[in-house]
Amino acid sequence: MTVELISVGTELLLGNIVNTNAAFLAEKCADLGLACYYQSVVGDNEERLSAVLKAAIGRSDVVILSGGLGPTEDDLTKEVAAKVAGRELYMHEPSKKQIEDFFRRRNMEPTGNNWKQAMMPKGAIVVENENGTAPGVIMEADGKKIILLPGPPNELVPMFEKSIMPYLAEGNSTIYSQTVKICGVGESRAETMVKDLIDKQTNPTIAPYAKNCEVHFRVTAKAENEKEAKKLLKPVVKELKSRFENHVYTTDVDTTLEKAVVDLLAANKLTVSTVESCTGGMLAARIINVPGVSDVYKSGYITYSNKAKRKILGVKKGLLEKKGAVSEEVAREMAKGAALISKAEVAVAVTGVAGPGGGTEEKPVGLVYIACNVCGKIKVKKYNFDGNRAKIRETTVSSALILMRQCILEYYSEVAFGKKLDENADRRK
Ligand code: ATP
Repeated sequence: MTVELISVGTELLLGNIVNTNAAFLAEKCADLGLACYYQSVVGDNEERLSAVLKAAIGRSDVVILSGGLGPTEDDLTKEVAAKVAGRELYMHEPSKKQIEDFFRRRNMEPTGNNWKQAMMPKGAIVVENENGTAPGVIMEADGKKIILLPGPPNELVPMFEKSIMPYLAEGNSTIYSQTVKICGVGESRAETMVKDLIDKQTNPTIAPYAKNCEVHFRVTAKAENEKEAKKLLKPVVKELKSRFENHVYTTDVDTTLEKAVVDLLAANKLTVSTVESCTGGMLAARIINVPGVSDVYKSGYITYSNKAKRKILGVKKGLLEKKGAVSEEVAREMAKGAALISKAEVAVAVTGVAGPGGGTEEKPVGLVYIACNVCGKIKVKKYNFDGNRAKIRETTVSSALILMRQCILEYYSEVAFGKKLDENADRRK
């Protein structure tokens, strides 16, 4: 089934408000396994709204409109939708009573135009609004479903979750999703690697989402019941896991990259320290955001100046002068120094040019070195990131987490797992 969203409101067109309703509805529809190919925003104008709605009915099975159900003259969504569906409006007594009660509870008098909100298209399902005066509407036109929802998010969200989602899910059996999250593979490469699967799969479907150095594949199955849906999901999730191997860091939708890294450290009984220059503590903050991190996180250092790199971490003055603070050699020494002073098994160091100033031809804005030291084995990677200062710093933090994960996995794949664990335990004594 396909769904199309129409957000009604001149305020949206002018950019006065952000279209959070569309984001919410699109996400919920994806959860329901409904394919959304079109979304539009249209002002409070009868002619244009009518045209957009007719086009939507022509190409989608379900059309959801939000906004324009209020009592004033310019609220015309219901009137236009009823006209397009060829339905007259009539006074819906239960809605009228609900509006009366709504005002009585607030010791207020309804004004004449409030009754406009109780006028309903003939044959439509009226959906109660527990948080406002505009009921929702479900009706059919040309075999397609038209759903009208009030604009205020505090009315739309509960109405959609309580009444519309079960209604849409009914004809749609059970929908069950699982998310396979991968890191360390670029978006286009990741999509190319599974293009055949995405094209071939209709149930379950595979939807990729790129997110700051990560790609998430949401696999959604439709079936009679949850057990059947899970059965359909299993081989597809398995195939994704086998194609991306250890780039898959979780299949749990709630697990973040930093949580996966913290879990990996904890599983290997490792502690970590961070030392940051251009990210100024952002990496530490992201790791410390994970509940229960105190078992693995030791210390964080912000060594922004060369002096701090020398004094705190013991980076040699000569090296800083010869190679510069943003260099492979200095990143390596920072990771070495941090491990030494904190006695953590893992130390991650970040140094880079976040811009907008400070870049040179040799060391342009976006040049970043990240070093990861796992029990004395140090790997340094050079990156050239795009974007403004904020984007470069954010991408650096994600890349540092990915590098940590990769280095820990590599370290343990080279030696017997149990033996290394024992050695680490000895080191900590
Ligand atoms: P009302 O009875 O409040 O007039 P309505 O159904 O007519 O409700 P609108 O007048 O279109 O809805 O919008 C009312 C308010 O709801 C807007 O001022 C805005 O704050 C919020 N709103 C409307 N549409 C959206 C949207 N798409 N995303 C986020 N907020 C919205």
